[in-house]
Amino acid sequence: MTTLFVALSKRLSSLLPSELHASEMPQLLLPQRHSLLLSQRRAMMIINRVRLFAFLFAVLTPLWSIVDFMVFSYPLWTGLAMFRLLACGAFASVLFMYRPSGRLTDAYLAIAILFAIPTLFYIASHTLLRGHELTQFSAAVATGYAFLPFVLMAGLAIFPLTLLENLLLATLLLIAQGVAGYMNWSTLNWPSFAGGFWLLILIAGVTALASMSQLAFMIALVRQAIRDPLTGILSRGSGEEILDLQWNLVDRSNGTLALAFIDLDHFKSINDTYGHEAGDRTLRNFTETLTAKLRSSDSLLRWGGEEFLLLMPNTDLAQANRALQRIVSNGLGQRPDGKPLTASIGLAERCHDRIRTPQELLERADQRMYLAKSNGRNQVVCSDSPETQQATDAPALTASV
Ligand code: GH3
Ligand code: MG
Ligand code: MG
Repeated sequence: MTTLFVALSKRLSSLLPSELHASEMPQLLLPQRHSLLLSQRRAMMIINRVRLFAFLFAVLTPLWSIVDFMVFSYPLWTGLAMFRLLACGAFASVLFMYRPSGRLTDAYLAIAILFAIPTLFYIASHTLLRGHELTQFSAAVATGYAFLPFVLMAGLAIFPLTLLENLLLATLLLIAQGVAGYMNWSTLNWPSFAGGFWLLILIAGVTALASMSQLAFMIALVRQAIRDPLTGILSRGSGEEILDLQWNLVDRSNGTLALAFIDLDHFKSINDTYGHEAGDRTLRNFTETLTAKLRSSDSLLRWGGEEFLLLMPNTDLAQANRALQRIVSNGLGQRPDGKPLTASIGLAERCHDRIRTPQELLERADQRMYLAKSNGRNQVVCSDSPETQQATDAPALTASV
């Protein structure tokens, strides 16, 4: 019995997307588990896809008026054409007025607007068609209008959504379909309504699988794009984006954001004496040592070869300086010859240094790192005048090699 169960669960787990690590699977279920960067990329992609959908509908919706003109009689086709023009205008305004902001709430609103337009069109055109006697041929075309909910449900597949988001949106569409059925209670053809409802549920299932597999690819791509392959910490590519994101977060509340520019001392001599492999090991060992000492809200990223950025949100200059002094005095790892690895660190803070842009914050920390180098290396500099700095520094650190 247990072997059967194990074999079955093995079979089932092989169905899960192989591009994801086991620890990333929960991200397919709930949006709360996504990193800031993944949420931002997903929000941008959702809004761009909404705009693509809006473009397609803005073109196709008025085009169908030609068919309406050929099959429906005079007041009916003009009424439908008017609804089509209104829908076209609404789609065009989504296309031109909505810009990707990187916020998920904007993305959800975009999907809601995109789905609300055809739903309103569906209700309006149905009301109009019901008031007219139709010939057999025009009645066949009129039933085409009933396909709209299926198109919308299938349309969900183009968005990278979690299971929870899929369930919510699909439920809303099913409720809309149920309400439409309830409104036509007296004339409702029950078997065809039930068949249509079941088909809609099946499409919802397939759509959820499609949009979750899009999300799985996106999670894997974001992971590959943001991680430095040597050390596994965040790479420079994502660094600027993370800096902007953190800046925008604290900017709203005028909060503190400290940034440390860390450059390892005399790193080239490790490569020259012990080889590149030993240099790589030292880099990996350094990032592991540092990462173990950071708070979960801090972000460490590799800016260049032996240069790193440490972002500390909601940390003022004095707190950041104390934290860095403590980290440095506990050691940053070892050089291959056993001597301590040291770094020159420039520290700047948004409020204390009256900094207005993320680039300025980075430049200030970089300048202070150079001050630390010219001051003799192996130290943290957190002001532009090294003399006052000497006085605020923690007890003398171990001498660099
Ligand atoms: P300073 O104290 O002035 O910073 O001296 P330094 O030797 O650390 O600085 P320099 O900029 O002269 O040299 C940096 C070296 O880092 C040069 C390069 O060979 C090495 N480096 C950069 N990226 C890597 C890497 O991925 N692996 C290894 N092993 N070495 C790297
Ligand atoms: Mg350097
Ligand atoms: Mg260096």
